[in-house]
Amino acid sequence: MPDSSVDFLLIGAGIVGLAVARELKHRHPAARILVLEKEAEAGRHSSGRNSGVLHSGLYYAPGSLKARLCRQGALEMAAYHDENGLPLNRCGKLLVPTTPEFAAQMETIAQRARENGVRAERIDAQTLAEMEPETRSATGEALWVPETAVGSPVEVIRTLAREVADKGVEVRFGAALAQVEPGRAILENGESITFGCAVNAAGLHADRIAHQFNAARRYALLPFKGLYWKLSPAAGIRLNHLIYPVPDLRILYLGVPPTTATDGAISLGPTAGPAFGREQYRGLASVRLPEALRMLRDVGRMFLRNQDGFRQQAGQEARHYFKCWFFKAAAELLPRLRPEHLMPATKTGLHPRMFDRETGSLLKDFHLEKSQNALHILGVTSPAWTSAFPLARHICDAIEADA
Ligand SMILES: Cc1cc2nc3c(=O)[nH]c(=O)nc-3n(C[C@H](O)[C@H](O)[C@H](O)COP(=O)(O)OP(=O)(O)OC[C@H]3O[C@@H](n4cnc5c(N)ncnc54)[C@H](O)[C@@H]3O)c2cc1C
Repeated sequence: MPDSSVDFLLIGAGIVGLAVARELKHRHPAARILVLEKEAEAGRHSSGRNSGVLHSGLYYAPGSLKARLCRQGALEMAAYHDENGLPLNRCGKLLVPTTPEFAAQMETIAQRARENGVRAERIDAQTLAEMEPETRSATGEALWVPETAVGSPVEVIRTLAREVADKGVEVRFGAALAQVEPGRAILENGESITFGCAVNAAGLHADRIAHQFNAARRYALLPFKGLYWKLSPAAGIRLNHLIYPVPDLRILYLGVPPTTATDGAISLGPTAGPAFGREQYRGLASVRLPEALRMLRDVGRMFLRNQDGFRQQAGQEARHYFKCWFFKAAAELLPRLRPEHLMPATKTGLHPRMFDRETGSLLKDFHLEKSQNALHILGVTSPAWTSAFPLARHICDAIEADA
């Protein structure tokens, strides 16, 4: 097969790969840009399987990339919905303490919101009852975050794939990167492509691909499964806003919040229990034994170290694999919920957490790593969908800083 040659080679047509392709085309209109996507269409993984929440950015450590990019990202993602006529539900979010001990934590979050420039107001029991009669707060109070919204991830990724193609980026589906040599990529079909700069935006495979470039060897994927349940319309529960429990910031446990999608359907979740396969959405067919054992060992290491309350978080999240425990967590936010109101959902995601073998802990922030002629994007967990456009600019700045 003849060699082809491009200036920029992107691996992965998720929201990050496509947003970077769009930004690169904007900065370098004459450049030849190719996006490789192993699946038949964009959005088969995290970018099409998420909750679609445009997060406001209030939880993240001030100064972190997540804190810096999320707020701006939410504004740009909302504008992208508007410009393309995509449904967006500007519903805002309520944070409610599920036990009285979380009252103090609410003040910490309000303070963090101020530091991150996010609007958040404390509301009293009467206002909460008027705004959201279906929920309960252990103290009566809640935190109101008006800027949070729910968008349309599947429509966004399809629109973005069309947009970059219209602008002259080649997006090739069914094209999996198999192997890397210096300045050259070999696809699974044997085709060879030379490139000036490669951008690894391969999500759940980003560590594996980085290792092929001899980069980021200290990081290895640890997938965490994001399961959802659907709320049966028979429950008669209608919600006006997103509702989240006040999280324990130490472990950032976000519970199983109800989200009203833009079509009005309510889902609960996602969970974040350990998984043992890169694409283990259902069953065990995709689990590869040597890698599963490596993942088990890394989870075991974190369990023993127990940094950031990992044991508590892992225990809580593992329980959510069982409907009875999931229901218990959901009912803390929706007291009228009954087990029979939960219906199985087809949507399942996998959070691509990266385990740092040197520190024995998980990456908390987005992380870029350079190697010769290549940039690798790791730790692209929530709120990367919200942050995609400013994150893409940050990535392009990093590429140019290297040039
Ligand atoms: C359950 C869940 C809920 C979430 N909810 C939210 C939310 O509400 N708000 C928010 O902001 N974020 C949310 N997120 C996070 C967000 O969805 C992700 O951070 C984001 O989609 C990551 O995008 P990505 O482009 O890095 O990865 P992906 O969307 O996974 O894209 C990577 C692409 O690379 C391709 N690829 C991999 N290997 C190869 C190869 N060898 N050759 C070619 N192509 C390859 C894959 O097929 C894939 O399409 C959620 C995530 C999950 C899992």
